Amino acid sequence: MAGSRDRFDVLVAGAGPAGSVAALVLARGGARVALVDQRSFPREKACGDLLGPRGLAVLAELGVPAPAGPSFGDMLVVGPTGRRLRLPAAGGATYPGHALAVPRVVLDAMLRQEALDAGAEPVTGRVGETVEVDGRLGGFRCGGRSVQADVVIGADGACSHVAEVAGLVDPGRVRWGFAVRWYREEPVELPVIAWWEPSPRRPLPGYGWLFPGPDGIANLGVGVATGADRRSASVAVRSVEGLTAHLERCGLLGRPSRGGGALPGRLGGWLKMGLAGTLPAAANVLLVGDAAGLVNPFQGEGIAQAMTSGAWAARAILEGPGGAADRYRGALIARYRRFYELGSAVQDALLAHPAGLAATLRVLLAPGIGPAVAGSWALLWNDLVDGAPPGRARGLARAGLLLGRGLTAGGSRTGRRG
Ligand SMILES: Cc1cc2nc3c(=O)[nH]c(=O)nc-3n(C[C@H](O)[C@H](O)[C@H](O)COP(=O)(O)OP(=O)(O)OC[C@H]3O[C@@H](n4cnc5c(N)ncnc54)[C@H](O)[C@@H]3O)c2cc1C
Repeated sequence: MAGSRDRFDVLVAGAGPAGSVAALVLARGGARVALVDQRSFPREKACGDLLGPRGLAVLAELGVPAPAGPSFGDMLVVGPTGRRLRLPAAGGATYPGHALAVPRVVLDAMLRQEALDAGAEPVTGRVGETVEVDGRLGGFRCGGRSVQADVVIGADGACSHVAEVAGLVDPGRVRWGFAVRWYREEPVELPVIAWWEPSPRRPLPGYGWLFPGPDGIANLGVGVATGADRRSASVAVRSVEGLTAHLERCGLLGRPSRGGGALPGRLGGWLKMGLAGTLPAAANVLLVGDAAGLVNPFQGEGIAQAMTSGAWAARAILEGPGGAADRYRGALIARYRRFYELGSAVQDALLAHPAGLAATLRVLLAPGIGPAVAGSWALLWNDLVDGAPPGRARGLARAGLLLGRGLTAGGSRTGRRG
């Protein structure tokens, strides 16, 4: 039996960016919230540590100060032949013209603390065994307690237990990715996105990165898309040397320095992309962030969407738990579905035709073409077209979206289970 100290309006499972922002908005709105995580904070999380312009806009909207960290705008893309292209950054009507490098050990602890300061109650424990109340999910046993709530928010990441026990996932339709990151001492001027070819004309089904970080500690990583079959995820781990060698060949990475302080070890994690194979909400369960599959299928980022969805789920609940699932699901689908369908279709095509990816990269990075498309490329794959400043880059990106949507109409699997 749960005592009154174990009864809440909302149980938020997972205190990553999605869960902490949900708990923050709920607590500010006067709800009694339990913010549960299996880990003690601060804790590491596999990530490129890049908080993009839309993520910064969410923090500003919430009135949460952005943590300290190197700020940067343009990015450098380097292709398999070593050809480079600078993707320009530009502030838009709804987001700033820069991103921030913030280690997740810092960002996540800060967001969680904001939620606790607003009144959310921390619970350390794994949500596992469910508690049923009146025939529906009414909470979980966690941290030695039976924590009960009217509404459950699943913010427990890509492999969400909440999504599974609520029956919201169709495993055969989920669009998976896997990425691994590590740190090393390296001064980095511009963030780099890199493609290379482990065998001729067969690029990795993903990309590598080299991002600047605080105190001259760079974040490197490799991410791959696997589709529904997760067995190929180990390619990311096996490609660590390939990325390092490619960046060294291109003169973008020096030889590792000797000594230096102890850095966090190599860490990998799953990405659940494209809002595919997961119903984001039903009855009294709402999924946010990676649990809902909100990672951008073009480039693998998900912190901004995690925070956005956390805030939206919280507001839907504050409006009245009755129709919250429907309102929240509708908002998510209206915002992300069409863009994610296009990203998923592009991903499918490039996964099925590695030679096509090799050719596409050569075309996009060609001297006469690259500079002409760089601005639109930056807007499109970072999902920055809405709110972008007027001009040629926005016009071309919008035309690309329209064309892509026309070509991919009809093949939708986003926001649905089956
Ligand atoms: C290697 C890598 C690099 C990435 N780089 C970037 C990047 O640079 N920029 C970007 O925007 N995105 C990046 N992403 C994606 C980004 O990390 C995620 O989209 C983001 O973390 C989603 O936040 P979340 O709150 O939904 O989930 P998470 O951050 O995964 O948080 C989930 C929380 O739930 C907890 N939890 C899980 N299961 C349970 C349970 N059963 N009980 C209790 N607690 C539980 C976990 O401990 C965790 O704290 C990267 C992902 C990977 C793997």
